[in-house]
Amino acid sequence: MKYLFISAHPDDLEFSCANLIRYLTSKKHSVEILCLTKGEFGTYDAELVGPSLAKVRVKELQKAAKINGVPQEKVHFADIIDGFLKFTRSNIKIVKEWLNQIQPDIIFAPEAYYAYYWQQDHINCGRLSHYIFSSYQKELVKPIKSLFFYGTLKPNFCWPFNDLTLGKGSLYQHKSQLYFLKWMIPFYSIEKINFYRKKVGKWNYVEPYRRISKKKNGLKPSIFIQAILGIISHLPFFNPTGARYYVSKGNSSFAFTVRKLRSIYYPKKSKYT
Ligand SMILES: [Zn+2]
Repeated sequence: MKYLFISAHPDDLEFSCANLIRYLTSKKHSVEILCLTKGEFGTYDAELVGPSLAKVRVKELQKAAKINGVPQEKVHFADIIDGFLKFTRSNIKIVKEWLNQIQPDIIFAPEAYYAYYWQQDHINCGRLSHYIFSSYQKELVKPIKSLFFYGTLKPNFCWPFNDLTLGKGSLYQHKSQLYFLKWMIPFYSIEKINFYRKKVGKWNYVEPYRRISKKKNGLKPSIFIQAILGIISHLPFFNPTGARYYVSKGNSSFAFTVRKLRSIYYPKKSKYT
């Protein structure tokens, strides 16, 4: 059985899945990681944006994955740019090609509907994965048996554990992100409190997952909940509009690509909107 964990950014899996990954690798299961972007915009330092931050973040994920038992050669990066992980035909193709290369039995992706952390790259990463899982199985070399969403508000599968420090140990490898992660740590602990004690037993913590059926039943929340989540999604904390994804100068291929993407996705917005 081969497990593939798909993420939008290099630090996402350590936040949500570290304990399950660690267990699977300790039992000698094959676990691979596919990170769709290199988190090139994960900084407020304009000098660091782009390939220099990407290099740092690739190394950070390799280190974190190693702690959880996934060797470097099983950590893959797709070439989508941070902030521009959209639900598009070309991105569906990219993810599909990676799935055909890795050929997993079971995939994990960020919760795309019942999410409390409504970051557009995460949501789109979940939707791309789900779209391929539910509609593109015939085009896959090897069919995917199951899809699980992580970071979900509606778990139907909980992975129990007792020691928060193990997961945090791998999370803290993302040193370039500590400025941000320090604000997220309370959410990390709250997300994992075992609210399901009757079902899961006397464990202190769980990682919540939602196993997705191939039918559409129950996939999306009611219109009312969707409206609330939609409002949350527009808060700048979750989605810093186009302003964050901006390169001020340079003729590198990165700067060129970002300018081109901005003209498509944020055509009317100036630098600070
Ligand atoms: Zn992320």
